[in-house]
Amino acid sequence: MKILLVEDEKGLIVTLTDRLTSEGFDVTSAADGKLGFDLACTQQFDMILLDVMLPKKNGYDVARDLRQKGIQTPILMLTAKGETIDKVLGLKLGADDYLTKPFEVMELLARIEALLRRRPSQTEAAINGAFRFGDVGVDFKRAEVTKSNTPVELSAMEFRLLQFFIENRGSVHSRDDLLDAVWGYDAMPTTRTVDVHVAWLRQKLEDNPKHPQYIQTVHGFGYKFTA
Ligand code: CA
Repeated sequence: MKILLVEDEKGLIVTLTDRLTSEGFDVTSAADGKLGFDLACTQQFDMILLDVMLPKKNGYDVARDLRQKGIQTPILMLTAKGETIDKVLGLKLGADDYLTKPFEVMELLARIEALLRRRPSQTEAAINGAFRFGDVGVDFKRAEVTKSNTPVELSAMEFRLLQFFIENRGSVHSRDDLLDAVWGYDAMPTTRTVDVHVAWLRQKLEDNPKHPQYIQTVHGFGYKFTA
């Protein structure tokens, strides 16, 4: 697993590189935002740890520009204490999660693991960029969905769930598996969450939500997407 660490605090670079390397990660570090952006554009990473306050190009601009270029590598933003508004902005601009400094390395590792688990988004969708079933079109790069060429508004979680279904179509998934794969560490520990999101997706995408053609219930086990 290759991690790009974009951080300008020398002490933190050394500490994190040591710890992540000892956990088996291959760490590349960049001490300013411009170098970090260039590396992320030219090399393949599994994850980007991105500081906000950086020389040359700040973390928000790096995240936004990477997403604009269609680079979907998971981004974990490292924000300083008290930058609450910044967290929201970071997530809006394309970060997948954030962690407030100072943090325990164990906490960082847990976040990294959770983001990597959600990574099916990096495989097929990133390569193909789009998927169609029936009159529904999904554009993974833009995170846009249409039905009969009309835009459909999906929440971030609905989109993630749909993407997981598409990438794992034909397989049956238990509610617990879906919670793990789609919601990750921050999951409210309730399988009801899954049912609710499935119902919303059916409502928005199926011709007849009561008799779904694509997102099917497998009684006694979970759900299956077929297309
Ligand atoms: Ca900094």
